[in-house]
Amino acid sequence: MEDDQYFHFPGLSDNSDSASASRNIRGVYFTIPEVAILLHHGKQFVPDLKNAQVSSLFRGRPILADNITAAEQNGLIELCPVNAFESEPFCLNLGRCVFCKECHFALPEKISFVNDYKIATNDWECLKVFPGKNEDISFNDSLVRPEVRKLFKRSLKLRQVSAGGDNSCEMELNAAGNVNFDMGRYGIEFVASPRHADGIVITGPITENMAKALEITWDAVPEPKIVILVGTDAISGGIFADSPALNRSFLNKIDIDLFVPGNPAHPLTFINGILRLIGK
Ligand code: SF4
Repeated sequence: MEDDQYFHFPGLSDNSDSASASRNIRGVYFTIPEVAILLHHGKQFVPDLKNAQVSSLFRGRPILADNITAAEQNGLIELCPVNAFESEPFCLNLGRCVFCKECHFALPEKISFVNDYKIATNDWECLKVFPGKNEDISFNDSLVRPEVRKLFKRSLKLRQVSAGGDNSCEMELNAAGNVNFDMGRYGIEFVASPRHADGIVITGPITENMAKALEITWDAVPEPKIVILVGTDAISGGIFADSPALNRSFLNKIDIDLFVPGNPAHPLTFINGILRLIGK
């Protein structure tokens, strides 16, 4: 087959330097580099962020069977390294879970994790998953301040604060703004200065040496403003919860607008959580 039978672009000479340079990629002939890149890499963006599918291996929302015995409940409470299981009533708290899946390995028929990434919520109580409930993580609209939806629905600028983070959630937040997830399509972006921001996004368990910097950053954000906790470390301290190196007193002074569970949190969890918060 002749080269120009693959792609023909009127006006573009096959003899040009750029065409020659991009002719043979994996044995396929092209006339312009952009086409070769598209075919090689596939689509460079997620077309529908609200209904995107992720791998079945992704550890998202947990499902607990309704027949977990009292002895098994006690065993799970003992087993979990971060005290994510609560008693009376028995439940799994997503704000503490690090998604290690040890509970699934211990009781594979009774505990599973599905690839539902829409697990962000604004209500601590909604983070609790109870036995026998295979339902979406709910969102408490009555807790959303009216000004949040009125002012931030079309444009939301956020300042990220890594308060002792390990760069895992930070990398995922970075990905949320890249060409693939492109949360900027909804007007949601990170900005460099808290003075230009509508709120802060906290990652990490909030270490003592970041406590003051976090307060200064928060104070620099003009009112009205929101605060989002991303990742188990930020929500509950995660595996560092009992460490004397933490100072989480800042969280006692403010109301949290959004909890984004994950270890680290997935960009789609973060983006869909914000969309629910701003009513989009
Ligand atoms: S997956 Fe979550 S609930 Fe299960 S053992 Fe690990 S941290 Fe605990």
